[in-house]
Amino acid sequence: LDNVEIARALAEVADILEIQGADTFRIRAYRNAVRTIEVQTRPLARMVAERARLTDLPGIGKEMAGHVRELVETGTLAFRDRLLAELPRSLVELMRLPGVGARKARRLWDELRIATVGELEAAARSGRIAALAGFGAKSQAKILAGIEEQRQHTSRFLLADAERYVEPLVAYLAASPDLERLEVAGSYRRRCETVGDVDLLATTDRPAPLMQRFLAYPQIDQVLMAGDTRSTVTLGNGLQVDLRAVPPDCYGAALIYFTGSKEHNVKLRRRAVERGLRLSEYGIFRLPAGEAGAPSLPADEAAGAEGEVAAGNSGDARDERGEAGIWIAGREEAEVYAEVGLAWIPPELREDHGEIEAAAAGRLPRLVEVGDLRGDLQMHSTWSDGRNTLEEMVAACAARGYEYMAITDHSKALAMVGGLDAKRLRLQWLEIDAIRARHPEIRLLRAMEIDILADGSLDLEDEMIAGLDLVVVSVHSRFELPLAQQTARVLRALEHPRVNVLAHPTGRKINRRNPIALDMEVVLRHAAALGVAVELNASPDRLDLKDSHLVLARELGCKIVISTDSHHVTELATMRYGVEQARRAGIEPRHVVNTLAYREFRQAIARPPVSL
Ligand SMILES: [Zn+2]
Repeated sequence: LDNVEIARALAEVADILEIQGADTFRIRAYRNAVRTIEVQTRPLARMVAERARLTDLPGIGKEMAGHVRELVETGTLAFRDRLLAELPRSLVELMRLPGVGARKARRLWDELRIATVGELEAAARSGRIAALAGFGAKSQAKILAGIEEQRQHTSRFLLADAERYVEPLVAYLAASPDLERLEVAGSYRRRCETVGDVDLLATTDRPAPLMQRFLAYPQIDQVLMAGDTRSTVTLGNGLQVDLRAVPPDCYGAALIYFTGSKEHNVKLRRRAVERGLRLSEYGIFRLPAGEAGAPSLPADEAAGAEGEVAAGNSGDARDERGEAGIWIAGREEAEVYAEVGLAWIPPELREDHGEIEAAAAGRLPRLVEVGDLRGDLQMHSTWSDGRNTLEEMVAACAARGYEYMAITDHSKALAMVGGLDAKRLRLQWLEIDAIRARHPEIRLLRAMEIDILADGSLDLEDEMIAGLDLVVVSVHSRFELPLAQQTARVLRALEHPRVNVLAHPTGRKINRRNPIALDMEVVLRHAAALGVAVELNASPDRLDLKDSHLVLARELGCKIVISTDSHHVTELATMRYGVEQARRAGIEPRHVVNTLAYREFRQAIARPPVSL
């Protein structure tokens, strides 16, 4: 068995154990092993044959090592087979439906013998779910809505999930002696929130050995195409990866071409034509005088289009369409942009949302960078549902070089995650005082993520709110309210005179939960007028606000904060996803309140003084 099949077998065990309601530590042990194996660039079968110590791998204990050995040596896993004899594999899809979960999936199987999403939908439509004890009509409607919602979600990968698989592959290819340069192009490079296929672009003078190395990668599930300069495979998780090798002379032009977007590239080619040039993935060419300005623009040509990239050397060149021209540039992206009268455009902006006009006028924004951030303003600790203590979070933020930070544990409405009431919040303040004394290197704010209740009131007494340095509010319930009601609810919360930040405004989870119905323009206008900042939640499955809302926020003069919503110290590093999302919306440091030094930050975030 190869690594892909081994990871899959252990993932199945984890899934079935979850439905069985097994111990969470045991389930996590399997999931951790899967995470390790999925990115292993050495074949485990070879490690077993060479008697290498599998337990040296992270997340692989004695039991997991035994499973791996059994899978390699026998081609199967007795424990997995036993579990699958008890429960059908398809229950995993039921479990993942919004409004179902592991426990309900189990009951649906035990009591109605429902094993697939199709069977569940049929049963719900005929009213059989509502009749089941502990389910009811509300639950049945929720399940139907969940099935519908899941249908709308694409099979595209979250950017952060794709990265987890692409980064080890890039490192593996980078070790090839034949490789000159390697870049991941496409929507991955534009840092879109989800990616479909992954396009790798390499420069090398000897493509054959590089292609061989690529095709020998241990995480490959299927080889869809194997060519001299291009190969396409799928990885074990279903992600499709394309590797193209191009000669060094056309690397810049090919990188532009395969980075996209399609709309951006169409406009670039039009500018080239206007200048008597022709732009393709091979380079930029000067056309013979008679052909200059000829409007021969293939509109369907796009990033990710089919076609081998052949030689694009200097001098007289012909491309796959047999069009002639004198090659003038193509080695670097900046050279190509310069030939069409533009400054180099950061990939995050290449969506034809005005970036070409801005580059032509010398008005490209100075996009925000991770290093601009001086504080994180939404994080959780063990006081509510975080997994690190307050002091561990403080030490980790200080180690990142932040100047200030806010731990924003939940309020009491979220009882399930240990939300704080006034009494426990006062106790937290005592701990904050003690930690402030021990950590003078960073300013720790008294803060909270307070639930916006269904009527728009806040889930904390005013006298306690008055004691906070930073008031973050958000919606965690009643996601289904209709537009007018939901908008009014949020507006009422913003009008509370002490609210500073509206967190994850739409509540969406990419590929999992739809945004709440909000009139975003009205909300952002109110926030701007009241001086309430809106959060860009950097958590890779939220990225809330999304790009178009961020553009609107910027245009309306709304203050923006970028926060990670970390529940563990390792999540502090997700700040970069938020920053990338902000860059896609043309956000500069001056738009982001937590790029300011502490004193200016406090002034910028403050609401006009009012007594409560
Ligand atoms: Zn939240």
